[in-house]
This record gives sequence, C-alpha cells and structure tokens, in this order.
Amino acid sequence: MAEHPIGVHVGPGLTEDNELDAGGPLARAAEMDADGVQVFLGDPQGWKAPLPRPDAEDLLASDVAVFVHAPYVLNVASTNNRIRIPSRKNLAVHARASAAVGARGMVVHGGHVLAKDDPAAGFDNWRKTFARQADDGGFPLPLLIENTAGGDNAMARELGAVARLWDAVGEFGAGFVLDTCHAWAAGWDLATAVDDVRAITGRVDLVHLNNSRDPHGSGRDRHAPLTGGEIPLELLLEVARAADCPVVLETPGDAASHAEEVALVREALRQA
Ligand SMILES: [Zn+2]
Repeated sequence: MAEHPIGVHVGPGLTEDNELDAGGPLARAAEMDADGVQVFLGDPQGWKAPLPRPDAEDLLASDVAVFVHAPYVLNVASTNNRIRIPSRKNLAVHARASAAVGARGMVVHGGHVLAKDDPAAGFDNWRKTFARQADDGGFPLPLLIENTAGGDNAMARELGAVARLWDAVGEFGAGFVLDTCHAWAAGWDLATAVDDVRAITGRVDLVHLNNSRDPHGSGRDRHAPLTGGEIPLELLLEVARAADCPVVLETPGDAASHAEEVALVREALRQA
C-alpha cells in the first residue's frame, strides 16, 4: 500500500439501480493509476440512508485507500432541530456504512449557524455530536472535519473558528481535512496553512488538493484543475508535501487528466 496514497473523488460510482457504474470506484482508480478513491455512499444532496454496496467486499479487501464524503446537506452545528437532529442521525448511519466498506475516514463539512445565531451554539452542537456518539461507543472510523470556503458564521472557515471548534471536539479524536481551494477562498496563507492548522489541531489527516477558479480570499468554492487555476501549482504541491498524509483530488476533469494529476503529485511527493 502506498505510504501517501493519492486518490481521486469519484462520486458514488453506482447506477440508479445501485449497481456498479462501469466497474465502480475501484475500476476508476485503476484507470487513473490512483492509490485512493473518495466516494459518496448515497445522494450527496439527500438524506436517505445508504444502501449496502455491491462492491463492499471488494472495497474492504482492496489496497486502494477508501475515503467517504458525507452528504453536503448535513449540518450538525445547526441550531435548527429539524436540521441538526437528522444530521446527527445521518452522520452515524453514514459512519457505519463507511466502516462497512473499510473506509479510512469519513469527511464531513464543518457546517454553520445562521447570522442571528451565536457561533458558540454551533461549536457546542459539534461537541454534543461527538459526546453523544461517544456514549454510543464512538464513531467506527475517524470523522474528518473539512474547512469550508465561504459563508458567515461557518464552523471551519477561519482559523479562529477552527480553534474554537477544536476546543469543542479535539478531545474526541476528531480529524481534519485541509481543502486547499477552500483555504485559498477563505484567505489563508497556503505557505503556512499546514503548520497553522497543526498548531491548532495537532493533525492534518487528509488533503483535498484542489486549485481554485477564483482569486485569494474570494469566498467562492469553485474547484479548478491542479495546473489550471489561480493558486500557483508549486504552492499546492508544497501543501501536499508539508501535510505528509493521504491526498484526494476533487478537481474537474476526465480519467486521462486525473491520471496526469495523480502522476504529477506522486512525482512531487517522491522528491520530498
Ligand atoms: Zn473538499
């Protein structure tokens, strides 16, 4: 197994009938010569519990590093019960399903509270999410919280917010995903981002290595190919080197362009 797997986000890899789409995620990984895949277990914009996957055994047995991305609609920070409670439930269900396919971690966005809310309520809701799960035996795999690009009162956009979030969830072993496009959009200095995050969390578990279509500090979340965005390529590669952990590309492109990006990052890490 690769020491620093380089993966690509491939979506659910399933048809509407829950059958493998053209061989599914592992076929995509082989096509791109990737050491990892990030998948959705269901509709990323939906609340349904994931169905058992036809490739569960294969994913479990594979050397390919599997990461799961939780649905975007989840927001465990929310002060609205009708969002927060189903979010927590869905997170627990997704975590079990992720463990069943041997995922190394499940990525979930930091979420946000409304402008009228005190952010403290959102951080506390995160703490309660972990605390209640801990009462239930904990999450069956690492939960990796990702920094987000924009929005007011976000739980993981500004480094100051990450610090408050970690005061709430650090003790439960929460993991961190550093998304370079989001960090750039939020105005972080990518040259020091890995150190800045580690100073707060003590860890970076996964890098989402994406370029951005928009300028530094734009607040916009529009991913670009590694060599085709506003972030200098060398700055991106430096983040991957400094993070010293698995990488997942969430860049737009086809199998051929992703294969090139995987090779490029692999070569850059080899030189590290
Ligand atoms: Zn991401």
